[in-house]
Amino acid sequence: MSTPALREEKSAAPEKSNQNPANLSQLLESYGSLSPYIGADHAFYEHHLLYDRVIDPAVASAREQFEAFSRSIRDILAQRWVSTKKTYEQQNAKRVYYLSLEFLIGRSLANNVSNLLLDPAVQQAAEAKGLDWLGLIEQEPDAGLGNGGLGRLAACFLDSMAMMQIPATGYGLRYEYGMFRQTIANGWQQENPDNWLRDGDPWEVARHHEKVEVKLNCSFQLRAGNIETVRDRPSTLIGIPFDRPVVGYGGKTINTLRLWTAAAPDYFDFKEFGTGDFVGALSDTLEAESLTRVLYPDDSTTAGQGLRFLQEYFLVACSLADIIRRFKRYNTDWEKLPEKVAIQLNDTHPSMAVAELLRLLLDDAHLGWDQAWELTKKTLAYTNHTLLPEALEKWPVAWFDVLIPRHLEIIYEINRRLLDEVRVRFPGDNGRVERVSLVEEGERRKIRMANLAIVGSHSTNGVAAVHSRLLRTTTVKDLAEVFPDRFNNKTNGVTPRRWLLQANPALGQEITQAIGKEWVTDLSRLKELRRFAEDGGFREAFLASKRQAKQRFADWLQSTTGQIIDPGTLFDCHVKRIHEYKRQLLNALRIIVVYNRLRSNPELDVVPRTFIFAGKAAPAYRLAKLIIKFLNNLGATIDADPVVKGRLKVLFVPEYNVSLAERLIPASDVSNQISTAGYEASGTSNMKFMMNGALTVGTRDGATIEMAEEAGEENLFLFGLTVEQVVNSRSWYSPYWHYDHDAETREALDLIFSDHFSPDEPGIFAPLRETLLTMGDHYMHLADLKSYCEAHHQVGILYADPEAWAKKAILNVASSGKFSSDRTIAEYASDIWKVEPCPVI
Ligand SMILES: *Cc1c(COP(=O)(O)O)cnc(C)c1O
Repeated sequence: MSTPALREEKSAAPEKSNQNPANLSQLLESYGSLSPYIGADHAFYEHHLLYDRVIDPAVASAREQFEAFSRSIRDILAQRWVSTKKTYEQQNAKRVYYLSLEFLIGRSLANNVSNLLLDPAVQQAAEAKGLDWLGLIEQEPDAGLGNGGLGRLAACFLDSMAMMQIPATGYGLRYEYGMFRQTIANGWQQENPDNWLRDGDPWEVARHHEKVEVKLNCSFQLRAGNIETVRDRPSTLIGIPFDRPVVGYGGKTINTLRLWTAAAPDYFDFKEFGTGDFVGALSDTLEAESLTRVLYPDDSTTAGQGLRFLQEYFLVACSLADIIRRFKRYNTDWEKLPEKVAIQLNDTHPSMAVAELLRLLLDDAHLGWDQAWELTKKTLAYTNHTLLPEALEKWPVAWFDVLIPRHLEIIYEINRRLLDEVRVRFPGDNGRVERVSLVEEGERRKIRMANLAIVGSHSTNGVAAVHSRLLRTTTVKDLAEVFPDRFNNKTNGVTPRRWLLQANPALGQEITQAIGKEWVTDLSRLKELRRFAEDGGFREAFLASKRQAKQRFADWLQSTTGQIIDPGTLFDCHVKRIHEYKRQLLNALRIIVVYNRLRSNPELDVVPRTFIFAGKAAPAYRLAKLIIKFLNNLGATIDADPVVKGRLKVLFVPEYNVSLAERLIPASDVSNQISTAGYEASGTSNMKFMMNGALTVGTRDGATIEMAEEAGEENLFLFGLTVEQVVNSRSWYSPYWHYDHDAETREALDLIFSDHFSPDEPGIFAPLRETLLTMGDHYMHLADLKSYCEAHHQVGILYADPEAWAKKAILNVASSGKFSSDRTIAEYASDIWKVEPCPVI
C-alpha cells in the first residue's frame, strides 16, 4: 500500500464544503505525506520504537506498540494541528474557551484514527505488520478525568466544535490520578487509584515555555503532618500546560485541549534557610505538586474541601492568564475582548472566573469598574447542571479571605451594586435581596457560586428544556426575575462519531447503506430512516446488527471476567453513576417483583432477561455503596435459584467508564432512565442508547421528555410521576401507603428485610428499609414501582414480536438526530458565543 487505502472513505467524505473536506486527496496532502508513516515499511512506527524507546521493534510489548502507533498517528496530525493554530492567529478569529474541571475523554487512538478517516488504512497497516489491532487499542488507559455526564459532555463538545471548525480550546486540569478504578470484593465497591499517566501518554505535548504564575496570598506549611495555611505570606504556584489534540471528524481542524499541571516555582527560596524556616520552603513544593494530583470523585455534592477550592481557582487563574495573554498578542483594544473571546463555564466549578477576569481588567489593565464589569459579563457564560441543592457550590468566605482576598473584595463590590439595583427595582422586597445575594449569611458566611456565575455573565443555560424551566422558576427564581433575558436552554447532545460510528460499526454500516453517510456530520439525516422501519429487509438487518453487538459484548465479558451471559436474552441495562435519585433501587425492586412472580408461579411465561448494571458510587456516599452491594447480592441469589435459572440474570459489571459504555450501549435492548422526575438535569446516556437502537423505559425527566417528543410517546415506555406530581405530593407522600396497599411492593420489600439476599450477613440491608420506608422515601421509589413494573410488562410483550420491536427501535434511531452534540454546539455558537467556523488554511 504505497498510497493509503482510503477507498470507501471517498464516498464517506461528507459533502458540505463549509464543514468538511471537499476532497480527500487534498485533505491527505494537508496532513503531509502519509506514506512514510503508514506505508508498507511503517518507518515511523518503528522509528518511535527504536529511537524513543530504544528497543528492538520485534520484541516490543503491546504497550510499547500502542505508544509507537499513537505517536505515528500524532505525527500525521501534527502539521495540521500547527496549521490550525496558525490559522486562528492569522485570522485573529473569535475563540471559544470551554472551562471545565472535568473532561471524560476515554481512549484516543481509535477515535483519532477514525476522525482522521484513516480507519481501514491504519488497521490494515497494523495487521500487515503482524500487530493485533484490537489488542493494541486495549493497551490505552481511559483518560478518566471526570465523574460522569458533565465531564463526558465536555468531551463530546470538543469533538463537535472541532468537526464544525469552531476555534475552540478546552481548559482543564491534568489530574495525575483520574476517576478511581472500581473493583468489587464480596459485593462491595473497592476504590483503586487510577494512575493513568504512569507510563506516560503519547498524545500530550508539554509546553513548559507557556507556563503561567498563580499568586496566592498565603503560604503552606507542614505542621504535625498536616498542611496549614500561613496567611499574608504570599506564595506562587506555577501552571504548566499540557496540550492534547482534538481531531475534528474529517481531519480539517485539530483543536486543543489544554490541561494544567501544578508545580512549585523553579527558584528555591534560600532566604527560608536563613530564617530556619526549612519546612516552609519545602512544603511549597509538596503542596504545589499535590494540587493537581487527583480528581474529586464525587459527581453531585460539594466535598467541602479546601483543596478542591484551590483546584478551581488554579484552573481559572491559569486559563484566564493564558487567554488574556493570547488576546493581548493580537489585540490592543480591551473593548474588543467580547468580540474575540467567549468563555463558557461548565457548571459553577470555574465560576471564580467572574472575579478573576474582573480583577485582571481592573488591576492589570487598569480599566474603570463599569467598563471592566461590562466586558466581564459579555465575555462569560454559565451552564447550570443540577438543581440538587447539595450540589450548588457555596465556598466559605474565610477561604477566599486567606487565599485570594482581592477576589473577595471584588465579590463584595459586585454584591453591593447588585443589592442596590435589586432594592431599587423591587422596593421593599427584602426576601428577594437576601435570596439573590452572593453571600449566604450565617455563622459561617459563604459565597454562592451559582449566583456569582449568573450575575457575572450574559447567559445562563440549563441542559434540557424541563431543567431550564425549573432552574428559572424554582432554583434561582429571584435572580431569573432580575435578569430574565439571560436565561436560556441548550439541550445536551452526544457526539455521533464516538457513540454510533465507532462504538457500533455494525449498525453504522446498515444506516450508511440505507441513507448514505451524511448522518455522521448531520445527524438530523437519520430521519430518512423512518421509512425503513416499514422495510422487512432493513428490520432484519437491524436485528442482525443488534445480535452482533450483543455477541461482541458477551464475548468480551467472558474473556475478561469469565462471566457467561446469553445474547439470546433481552439485555435490560441500567448504567450510570450510582445515586439515590437515579433510582437503581427502583430497578432492583422491579426485578424482585418479577422474581417473586416466578417463585410463586414457575410456569409463568416471561421473556428471559439479563439485567446489566454498572456505575461507580462516590467513596463517601455510604448508601450508594450499599446499593452496589445489594445489586451484587441480588445477582448472586438469583443465580443460585434454580426456579429462575436461564430466565433472569442480574449482572453488575465493574469499572464503568467511557470504554465500557462504548461496548455495552450498542449491545442493549432496553435503556432504563428512571430518575425521580425533576432530578435528572438532562442525562446523556439516554441519548446514546436511543441512537443505538435500545428502547427507553423512563420517567418524564431531563432530555428523556424531548426524546419522547421526537420519537412520539408511543415509541417509548414512559411511566411514573411527573415533575408536577412529585412536587405536589411531597407534603403528603407516604411510602407506607404503597407498602400497605400493594402486595407485590410489600412482598418485594419484605424479601429484602428477611435477609433473603443476605443470609450470611443478616441486617446489612437495614439502611434500605430506612431510606425506602422509615425516612419517607425521598426519591419516591414506591410511588413509581407499580407503573414501572407495568411498563416493563409491556416491554416483554413487545420483545416477543421481533418485527414490531425492530420497528419501534428503528423509529427511535431515526428520531435521535436532535441529540447530536453538533446541534447543541450550533445553538451555543449562534445564541451565546456568536462565533463562526474558521476553516484551516
Ligand atoms: C454518558 C456517560 C455518562 C452519563 O450518563 P447518565 O446516564 O446520563 O448519567 C456517565 N458516564 C459515562 C462513562 C458515560 O459515557
